[in-house]
Amino acid sequence: MLDIKKIRPGFPILKKKRNNRPFIYFDNAATTQKPKLVIDAICDFYSNYNSNIQRGMYFFADKATTEFEKSRAIISSFLNTQFKEEIIFTSGTTHAINLVAFGFLQKFTSKGDEVLIGEMEHHANIIPWQVVARKLGVKFTKLKCCENGKVDIKQLKEKLNTSVKLIAVQHISNITGHENNIKEICALAHKKNIKVFVDGAQAVSHKAVNVRGLDCDFYSFSGHKCFGPTGVGVLFGKKKLLLDMEPFIFGGNMIDQVSFSKSSWGKLPHKFEAGTANIAGVIGLGVAIKYMLSLGLNEIREREKMLTNLMWGSLKSINNVIINTTPPSSPIFSFNISGVHNYDVGSLLDEMNICVRTGQLCAQPAINSLGVPGLIRASLCFYNTEEEIKIFTSSIKKIIKIL
Ligand code: PMP
Repeated sequence: MLDIKKIRPGFPILKKKRNNRPFIYFDNAATTQKPKLVIDAICDFYSNYNSNIQRGMYFFADKATTEFEKSRAIISSFLNTQFKEEIIFTSGTTHAINLVAFGFLQKFTSKGDEVLIGEMEHHANIIPWQVVARKLGVKFTKLKCCENGKVDIKQLKEKLNTSVKLIAVQHISNITGHENNIKEICALAHKKNIKVFVDGAQAVSHKAVNVRGLDCDFYSFSGHKCFGPTGVGVLFGKKKLLLDMEPFIFGGNMIDQVSFSKSSWGKLPHKFEAGTANIAGVIGLGVAIKYMLSLGLNEIREREKMLTNLMWGSLKSINNVIINTTPPSSPIFSFNISGVHNYDVGSLLDEMNICVRTGQLCAQPAINSLGVPGLIRASLCFYNTEEEIKIFTSSIKKIIKIL
């Protein structure tokens, strides 16, 4: 069991107060808070061995390169990839999706082919595919989802045909907290030689991810949503595919030979890591993942299950709260209060030092499919407490009375 009394002091921001009252941070799906270990690792890089990587011959450069590559090894083992070079550092999930949309679709699809995208996806997992598909004359097809945000498997089966080249879906919904059955989707897709891209932005902080077990072709996540810094993320891709794909960004560090008549690309992973990386960010992300592993992914999961059940029961017990019919698999709760605008709830909660997200949650098609103008989203993680859920619930009840 996680000892929450020991864990919380490790996050400096969780000690913050306004008007002598602590904050309740329930916006972890937008970004998680950072443990001091991660903040210190970033500070240590800039204070003690700041240098560029993979090029200098001196002490600092060597240390920076070693620490940077250590992060790759940690993340490779965290995702259970077969090869370390299957881990590409990006600036985040958005960058990773663009990399595959341009690098894969441009190489492997042509006019008349088709890509399937879940209708409840985050904008980041819609627009890059839409833009590239339009450029190439590739059909861009919406995959129907159930109201809990999961891909409708029956409809998916009907849509799988020989012109489909790729399916892009999220692992866990940033709206409902429900989880797609990625293993099943990959098995169905692979029977027809279709590749699967998984947006794992909302999954890695909540559960162990095993890309070989899932057998997905691509998997991406953002460092800032799993206790690491902003501006850094990860793309996993199967080696064979990465070798065959075209780079997305061109420049220094990604080349083999350069001349004015012709240039050639370096080996994996460098082929996809042009320019100077977010070195401090990558090192910080490695420390964040090590931190999660030190707590124990099963222990995190157990605690979040307990918080999920409590939050679900509490929200369900409030009369005017409109929420999904089945509890989420991760502690992400989107709801409305009848007759009240989500922004009004958000700003009253802010006055009570409670941080939640309101509005369209970067998923306009999903919001439209749910037939609501917007939502209030409370997203928790392991460092949240039963006491915070109690205060949140009574604050929602107060707001219902006021409005
Ligand atoms: N996909 C999902 C499911 C997300 O929740 C988010 C972030 N809200 C993203 C993609 C984009 O992540 P980033 O902004 O870190 O690139």
